[in-house]
Amino acid sequence: MTIGVVGAGQLGRMLALAGYPLGLDFLFLDKEARTPAAQLAPSLTGEFTDARLLAQLAERSEVITFDWENVSVAALEKLRGARIAPPLAALATAQDRLEEKRLFEKLGIATTRCAAADSLEDLHDAARSIGLPGMLKTRRMGYDGKGQVAIRTAGQLEAAWQQLQGAPLLYEELVPFDYEVSVIGARSTRGQIAIYPLNRNQHVDGILRLTRAPWREPRLQAAAARALRKVLQHFEYAGVLTIEFFVRRGRLIANEMAPRVHNSGHWTIEGAVTSQFENHLRAILGWPLGDTRALGHSAMLNLIGVMPDRHALLGVPGLFLHDYGKSPRPGRKLGHCTVVETTALARDKRAAKLAKVIESRKIRS
Ligand code: AMP
Repeated sequence: MTIGVVGAGQLGRMLALAGYPLGLDFLFLDKEARTPAAQLAPSLTGEFTDARLLAQLAERSEVITFDWENVSVAALEKLRGARIAPPLAALATAQDRLEEKRLFEKLGIATTRCAAADSLEDLHDAARSIGLPGMLKTRRMGYDGKGQVAIRTAGQLEAAWQQLQGAPLLYEELVPFDYEVSVIGARSTRGQIAIYPLNRNQHVDGILRLTRAPWREPRLQAAAARALRKVLQHFEYAGVLTIEFFVRRGRLIANEMAPRVHNSGHWTIEGAVTSQFENHLRAILGWPLGDTRALGHSAMLNLIGVMPDRHALLGVPGLFLHDYGKSPRPGRKLGHCTVVETTALARDKRAAKLAKVIESRKIRS
């Protein structure tokens, strides 16, 4: 049985790695021929909007899924008769930050205050009504902090506008958050839901650096799971869905959702009974979902820009290394590593040490 995946990055690669033991095969579609997933599985090369290639993918696959949320909804909609999961309605909502926030509001999920900024005048109005400081963001195609400008004073509004104008924009309040968390869960085509323990995430320059899980805050866990269930049920969702939140004064404020497996869930490969990747596959195929319980206390650190020395990393006892096979580039996610400990304290100490190893042992090219 073949799973067709639009996008062949590291998420697709890890989906394939999780799917092979279940007896699944994979076929990818990506703009580039040399991708992390194409190192493992056959891959069609062409635009995500290429109707002929998408039709080929559909013909050869039991179900089509995607590993990136900026694939073309319009092109996928044209695939008559193909099974696509997660649902395209969820994909379309996640592609537009404003739609996403309106959905959170509709479902009673607390989110950041924001407004569309279609002109410089709108932006001034939004900053007046929502207040400063704030963020100007592109509504679409934003990820890893791309397409965002922080604004502290009214005098900075015009420069921010000049920087991002041309694309639909939104202005939102800057949340002075205490920390950030995310929740990941799956809903199967049969309606079964399974939710992972909460992840605590640290970003640098908008890019995830460190995830620690489980983050044991029972009240937050319950609130995050409630929010996730609402979104899963709203879309009659199939697959894995992630919501990222700011935590401020013990309350969750939803930032964004991703209709896919997520970087903050990579620890589940070694640190949970069933990984997010395996559960995504089980969910889209209508198979029973796997146990989402944590096996210990995990820390996941991203390897960004340059790969650290492999000997230094593998010399750390109990470290799990994932190298995505990508060429180095500043800001690019090249791999990640995970450690699983028996206590949260031991995990936090390991994570701090590991961050130092990663920083000091980078190979400068
Ligand atoms: P995003 O692409 O929206 O997930 O933003 C990436 C990161 O930028 C977030 O994880 C936050 O660390 C930061 N960020 C984004 N929006 C806001 C906001 N409204 N207030 C404070 N920090 C933000």
